[in-house]
Formats: sequence, structure tokens, C-alpha cells
Amino acid sequence: MAVSAYDPENIFAKILRGEIPCKKVFENEWALAFHDIGSKAPVHVLVIPKKPYVSFVDFSARASEDEITGFTRTVGHVATALGLDEPGYRLISNVGPDSGQEVPHFHVHLLGGRRLGALVSP
Ligand code: 5GP
Repeated sequence: MAVSAYDPENIFAKILRGEIPCKKVFENEWALAFHDIGSKAPVHVLVIPKKPYVSFVDFSARASEDEITGFTRTVGHVATALGLDEPGYRLISNVGPDSGQEVPHFHVHLLGGRRLGALVSP
């Protein structure tokens, strides 16, 4: 899959630069986690890497092993801190047009707090 150039004016880039606010859940050197503005579940948190990657395709290809490890562990830490390990939760990352990806900065949706139902609707 071709990866388009990173757009530094995307909304998550603006959140990372502090140009627009977010309801922060957690932050470290690798990632920022914040509540999704259009929450689809009792818990709906987005976790984004600090560095500019368009999508998972871009992140998995270009990020260093330290970044991949740091980001992945941060997603796990945030889920644990939100109390989601025991009841369970869902991770989703939309990639490209067929997925409906709206924001071209790699992000993981962390959804939980209720039974989530079927993964994909027709
Ligand atoms: P995508 O469809 O790209 O996987 O998901 C983008 C998500 O970003 C959507 O769930 C949407 O509600 C969320 N979102 C879009 N704009 C903002 C914003 O300005 N602030 C926050 N917190 N979330 C946003």
C-alpha cells in the first residue's frame, strides 16, 4: 500500500503541538493518550505516537524498534491503568480509505466498558 506524505496540519499533529486541547489520559516520551471526542463506548481512548506516521503501515515500516516497543507497551499500560484488562477491551487501528480512517496520524482506538458486540458491521 502506498503511504501518502504526512500532513503536519492534521488534527492529531495539532493536539501534539498543544494547538488544540484534548482530554489527556496519559503521556510519555513515546505516546499521548486522550479521550476520543466522538466516544463510541464508555471508554474510548486514542493512543498516538509522538512522531509523525500516517498510519500503521507507515509506523510498522519506519518506526525504530525502540519506538515500536515504547508505543506498544504504552498502549498496554493505558489499558491496564483504565481498568480494562479484566473485563477486556478492543484495539482498532483504521488504515486508509476502506477502513474509513479520518485522521492521517497513526492511532489506536482503545474501546471498552461494555460488551462491544460484532467487530465488523456489513
Ligand atoms: P479514525 O476514523 O481516523 O480511525 O478515527 C479518528 C477519531 O478521531 C474519531 O473517532 C474521531 O471521533 C476522533 N477525533 C476527531 N477529531 C478529534 C479531536 O479534535 N479531538 C479528539 N479528542 N478526537 C477527535
